[in-house]
Amino acid sequence: MGYKRSYAVLHLGMLWAVLLVLCAISFHAPLAAAGGVAIGLVSILQADIYYKCPECGKKLPLWAVMPHFCPGCGRNLRDAKV
Ligand SMILES: [Zn+2]
Repeated sequence: MGYKRSYAVLHLGMLWAVLLVLCAISFHAPLAAAGGVAIGLVSILQADIYYKCPECGKKLPLWAVMPHFCPGCGRNLRDAKV
């Protein structure tokens, strides 16, 4: 998986996790809460594996907007095709 897809999966996963947990709280549904937590954990785990610079392999910051340039090697991350 490329770093751009990993970034999208992380943020969509976190959105779903928050929505599921909020629904679980509203409707007293512990199964939905467990699902939300699981989705959140999987999203974070895949980002920890795949969200890194394709050039030098440096991990990119998870809880920030995708940087324009790699903090390790300076590669342009926004305009790259990968
Ligand atoms: Zn790099």
